[in-house]
This record gives sequence, C-alpha cells and structure tokens, in this order.
Amino acid sequence: MSLVSLMQIVYEQIVPAKEPWSRVIAAHDVLVITDLEGQQAVDFLCYDANDLTDRYSTMNTVKVQGNVYVGLNTVLYSDSGTALMTVIEDSVGRHDTIYGCCSTANNRLRYGVETTETCYANFERALAEHGLGKDAIVSNVNWFMSVPVLADGSAGIAQAELQPNSHVSLRAETDVLAVLSNCPEMHNPCNGYNPTPIKVTVCRKA
Ligand SMILES: [Zn+2]
Repeated sequence: MSLVSLMQIVYEQIVPAKEPWSRVIAAHDVLVITDLEGQQAVDFLCYDANDLTDRYSTMNTVKVQGNVYVGLNTVLYSDSGTALMTVIEDSVGRHDTIYGCCSTANNRLRYGVETTETCYANFERALAEHGLGKDAIVSNVNWFMSVPVLADGSAGIAQAELQPNSHVSLRAETDVLAVLSNCPEMHNPCNGYNPTPIKVTVCRKA
C-alpha cells in the first residue's frame, strides 16, 4: 500500500496539457504528481517559501547523493543547503535533473524552429504570480523524463514509454513553493509528441 493512501487529500487538481501550475506546500505535506496518460514530462522547480531567493540547486542535489539521476529517497536541496523536498515514492525509478527545461532558445538551437509554448515561458507565467521574474528560473527537475548519460558522457532525451498513472510523491521538508510546467514540447520524444494532462495532489497526515 502506498504511503500517501493513508493520508488525507487536502487539494487536488488536473493540470491541462501544456499548462503551468504552482502552489505553496506546507512543511510535512506531500505533493503527488501523477502522469495520467503516460509519457508526459513535468518540469519542476521549488523554493523555500519563507525565503524565495533560496531555490532548488541541481548542483547540491547531485553532489550530496553522488548521482545525476533523481529517484526514490533523493533530497532536493536549495542553494543554501536547505532540504526542500524528499522523494518518498517513485513508480518510475529515474528522472532527469541535468537537461533543464525547453525554451524558445533551445528549440531554435536544437531544432531550428521558433516556438512560443515552452516550459521556460510557463515558468515565467507561474513565477510572476509569486512576484518572481525569469532570474528565478534555475536548472530544474524533469519528472518522467529519461536522459541516460552514457559512458562517453553523451546524453540525450530518450523515449520513456512510461505507463499511465506513473507518479512521484514529494514530502515538503519546509514550507515550499512548488512550480511546474506540464511540458508542451513537440520537437523531441519527451512527451511522445502528444502533451497530455497531469494530476497534482497534496496529502496531509490524517
Ligand atoms: Zn518543456
């Protein structure tokens, strides 16, 4: 039985395909992100809600665990070394945190196309609601996205073929502002070329 099935649901929402979402998660609450239809990347940032200048640090997270992938028991650390969130359930096993989010610049550089729907633009929209600008966008976590790093150092987005209802559960270790983009990318296989809705649920100990 999953840990969160014993908890009380205090918030639940569907995030439509291609849309951003954000919410402050109280310390000890658990944020569950569910990939409803499968193969949908979710770009994710988090901040200390009591000091929004202290944000998720890929560098600290990767160094502390000594591994470039995010998965069960990974602690998401901030710039200051504060534990922001811990992965307490993971039906997938391996998520990316080195490849960053899709952006107009990325799509131009990698695919030679000009786009307006990007995770970067979604982050800007969501962050503006909390008084933050694009300087708050840092290297993020990509839930449900597979970026294998090979022995020669090469890396790239792989077709993940994740099952519907794949999910991760993140326990807030302090009050956390969670910001995500339900990735709209159409130029690589991270969403199977078909962006779909996800579900966000906040659970609390009953
Ligand atoms: Zn994206």
